[in-house]
Amino acid sequence: MKSIKICIVIAALCCILPASAQKMFASAKYDAMCSYYGETIENTITAYEADNTAEAVVKNIMSVIGLRANFELRAANVPNAAAVIIKNKRYILYNPEFMNTVNTVSGTNWAAISILAHEIGHHLNGHTLGSEGSRPATELEADEFSGFVLRKMGASLKDAQAAMSLIASMKGSHTHPAKHLRLSSIETGWANAGSGGVTPSAIDVITQRPAVAARTTPKRTTAPARTVQKPVKEKLALDEKYIAGEVSLTGDPTGRYFITKKAHFVQVTKDNIYLLGSLEESDRYGYKFMLSDKFNNNIYIDNSGGLVNSYGNRIGRLSIK
Ligand SMILES: [Zn+2]
Repeated sequence: MKSIKICIVIAALCCILPASAQKMFASAKYDAMCSYYGETIENTITAYEADNTAEAVVKNIMSVIGLRANFELRAANVPNAAAVIIKNKRYILYNPEFMNTVNTVSGTNWAAISILAHEIGHHLNGHTLGSEGSRPATELEADEFSGFVLRKMGASLKDAQAAMSLIASMKGSHTHPAKHLRLSSIETGWANAGSGGVTPSAIDVITQRPAVAARTTPKRTTAPARTVQKPVKEKLALDEKYIAGEVSLTGDPTGRYFITKKAHFVQVTKDNIYLLGSLEESDRYGYKFMLSDKFNNNIYIDNSGGLVNSYGNRIGRLSIK
């Protein structure tokens, strides 16, 4: 079993040099609580003083929540951003280069803000007190928090979901939930902020099962229990006779994705079928069809079955049976 504990040797965050100077900190260990998209964090972290813009963003986030920060902010060579505890002190680490890139590619500065809000959500909810590393439940809670905060700051739902829409994995892992669940949590938080609700808890969200493409799997809906299901080829929950095509995604080489004969775009595991979207006529010149979800995230299908995202990057392919 893969260990979810990521032990990292880093420097003690006790002496911070002036802006632009870098310092490798003394050796220390911590458990990385969260890396936004669930990436592995480098073994050696170099942290340095946060820039003024990032400090201002954090200040704004805290002011809409009305709480004092219980953490310090540092720039660092983490993949994107992370909430960590080192020697009983809470830190938010962020990668300035990544933040710029995610803003540029998504076309909105709300992308980086939502990532910082997510990490702050971990600290304010006390998540980093554990040593188990990221868990899907706490990730959804932090996602909901980010949606809540961003609306309070004036972001649209699309803005609040921009960073997540861009890179998050379609498929969940033992540490991070699937993209559609994370987008839903952001939406829940965003909606709560509009109704004047209090800072949200995501408990009810995480206990909901993902939408199941019931119409495409009549067999499954009548199966009384998993144990009496007939074993199918490759032990997938979707019978082959409902499959019209298979989708392979570069970002998730082990995931199984299909287009059903009813034009649903689904992810299938051995126990579940997740409805991700549907095959539709494309809204973009040069592509006849696209895969689209309820958040209007589109994947375009070119004439040779190649899949490209809305930024024109090749992300996989579709093979019709
Ligand atoms: Zn997180």
